[in-house]
Amino acid sequence: MSTQTISRKADFPGMVNADGSPWHYLDTAATSQKPQAVVDAMANALGRDYATVHRGVYSRSAEMTLGYEAARRKVAGLVGGVEDEIVFTRGATEAINLVAATWGAANLKAGDRVLLSVLEHHSNIVPWQMLRDRVGIEIDVCPLTDDGRIDLDAARQLVDERTKLIALAHVSNVLGSRLDTAKAAELARSVGAKLLLDGCQAVPRTKVDVKALDCDFYVFSAHKIYGPTGIGALWAKKDILDAMPPYQGGGSMIDRVTFEKTTWADAPQRFEAGTPAITEAIAFAAAVDYVEGIGIERIAAHEDDLVRKARAELAKINSLRLFGPDDSAGIVSFQLGDIHPHDLGTILDEENVAIRAGHHCAQPLMDHLGVPATARASFGLYSDEDDIAALIRGIERTMRIFG
Ligand code: PMP
Repeated sequence: MSTQTISRKADFPGMVNADGSPWHYLDTAATSQKPQAVVDAMANALGRDYATVHRGVYSRSAEMTLGYEAARRKVAGLVGGVEDEIVFTRGATEAINLVAATWGAANLKAGDRVLLSVLEHHSNIVPWQMLRDRVGIEIDVCPLTDDGRIDLDAARQLVDERTKLIALAHVSNVLGSRLDTAKAAELARSVGAKLLLDGCQAVPRTKVDVKALDCDFYVFSAHKIYGPTGIGALWAKKDILDAMPPYQGGGSMIDRVTFEKTTWADAPQRFEAGTPAITEAIAFAAAVDYVEGIGIERIAAHEDDLVRKARAELAKINSLRLFGPDDSAGIVSFQLGDIHPHDLGTILDEENVAIRAGHHCAQPLMDHLGVPATARASFGLYSDEDDIAALIRGIERTMRIFG
């Protein structure tokens, strides 16, 4: 598929510099730019349509409540779930913390095992360490294959009937490697463990169907899929969600409060204490509409095409070490000789190319790769071959500067 058929820079007000010159934004894995449709949805929700949800007896509030709950339906549909299974959170980070603090604290005890992998984002490591400190679980770490995939064959040696949860990235935010989800589900079932998938990087570039994935929890953030910051979602199987104790206490999550005893609202409201991120939810739904209007399969094919081209160009540079598998999803990490990624990122910035340089919230993976940081170029539906050409020009200039 030609990249020209999908690149929609014009829809994204953030994709040009103030003077109108192009900006080569290659940091979509950190956060995506927003289409005007999402900016407009957010502005309308904050402006002409603004009111609270769930409590108001006046019509504007009733309409906002309908909009908020329609957003929940839309977001559920994005991952093949239904509305009752979706909890709005501040993002994937909060969603994992919620699972650890509620389901984890209620169901895991000292000696139970949780399997993670070397390439996990800190948000899928630290909450489990906090739970370890609280209840004494053990954390096992699945190794990677040479090309940077989670090695589920090796994982077989790391699970037994004490393994209660397997929590893995669906797509790595550093290597772009895709999890073999069928094998992960089979592994979890073989020992009766629950399966949590961190879908942050998968949802923007993969058709997700939680039923087909056969997972128990699926987490993602709106801002990675062309929506706003401050909102994300936890999808969980309804029976698991129904049995989970609350996360935070406050308004909206209760059934009845007295000083003697408080009873909880049903899920998902039980997990949404306080006034929710109303405008963000509306804008999240607008982002899902935008993406579905293009088609996630087209976006995936477009990004796959760009990744192939970028990897082929980068591989021609002698001193450049490429990380991750050849078929990485939308994300390419590399190291340019002994030039620090921050220096590369700074020089690329002078060329209007924005990449990410750092540990990408995956320090254990950096240790595994033997580098303090990597340079990372990541693509979105608006990326095109000009962005790759600008990246390569910038790398060549950096090499000249560093001799
Ligand atoms: N997991 C992965 C794989 C990610 O890429 C990110 C964001 N970099 C997160 C979790 C955390 O997402 P958020 O910061 O939106 O909560």
